[in-house]
Amino acid sequence: MTPAIELAGVSRLFGAVRALDDVSLAIAGGEFFALLGPSGSGKTTCLRLIAGFDQPTTGRVMLHGEDVTGVPPFQRSVNTVFQDYALFPHMSVVENVAYGPMVRGVGADERRRLALEVLELVQLAALADRAPSQLSGGQKQRVALARALVNRPQVLLLDEPLGALDLRLREEMQIELKAIQQRLGITFVYVTHDQGEALSMADRVAVFRDGRIEQVDTPRELYVRPRTAFVARFVGSANVIEGALARRLTGSDRVFAIRPEMIEVRGSDEPVPGGMLSCEGTLEEVHYHGATSRWHVRVGEAVLTAVRAEAAAAAVIPAHGARLRLAWARESLVPLEER
Ligand code: ATP
Repeated sequence: MTPAIELAGVSRLFGAVRALDDVSLAIAGGEFFALLGPSGSGKTTCLRLIAGFDQPTTGRVMLHGEDVTGVPPFQRSVNTVFQDYALFPHMSVVENVAYGPMVRGVGADERRRLALEVLELVQLAALADRAPSQLSGGQKQRVALARALVNRPQVLLLDEPLGALDLRLREEMQIELKAIQQRLGITFVYVTHDQGEALSMADRVAVFRDGRIEQVDTPRELYVRPRTAFVARFVGSANVIEGALARRLTGSDRVFAIRPEMIEVRGSDEPVPGGMLSCEGTLEEVHYHGATSRWHVRVGEAVLTAVRAEAAAAAVIPAHGARLRLAWARESLVPLEER
């Protein structure tokens, strides 16, 4: 099937800065696709190129199989929701939402009906006649969303739309946004630097680093089979095992990742079942997180982190400096590509 969005060999240079460096990407219709990466990695540049607010230095952008490189934003079948809402302060909520249909020449009664229908969807119908200044941050964000959805876009681009909200509201809105996306079957392209948000909402995630895409995969694949040390560390937390320790444990010069929850902590003289790899270390720190605690254990040059569920943990935590044995199944080690 023709992808909803396709980037082919896209680069965007700002002087000497390569904001995007030879990015190719295909996003399917109806997909919830996250652009994830640290600040400055090129996510917003990528979104702006899809929207048409900016043009690639080289490469092509396609929407539903049609080359739109050079086509201005208002002639593309995409809508954008920004973090800073950009609502019209002198218009009521419903007028804000009805603005798009008004510009398209839809009559007053019909555009109010359309706007109220979308406000119902984002659970704001009761506040239709308020001014934006009388709304909370989360409510403003929903108006901004309604204003985009009323245009029935096939593709919605969202740039850190929940970034200004506090944690609890953000989590509520994540669930609502995902539900709306699934109900309407719209393609969402969602920029975030929050890996939890990307993992919990997206069907697939592109991990950006320095203007390039490091890996594109489902959240589960990214977590279970990160291809590089950067992805392993950026998506969840990971121990990276390399150098002398990797050679001693595996006999190989490769670099490996292992998730903290795959590492078992044992007494230094406890036996380790056959088939497991193990190494001895010294307990440096224990960080308590409620249901779990994170144990930082020095093994030679490296410090490895293990996660223990409190329920399963021994009642007594060994003192700092205690000798411990870390053990894990051989297949928990994920070989990484060198970069
Ligand atoms: P953030 O999460 O901080 O928004 P980002 O991943 O969205 O970051 P971009 O905004 O795409 O990153 O920026 C990528 C790189 O391009 C950065 O180094 C940035 O400084 C640079 N850049 C972006 N826009 C411009 C511009 N108009 N002029 C010059 N450099 C720019």
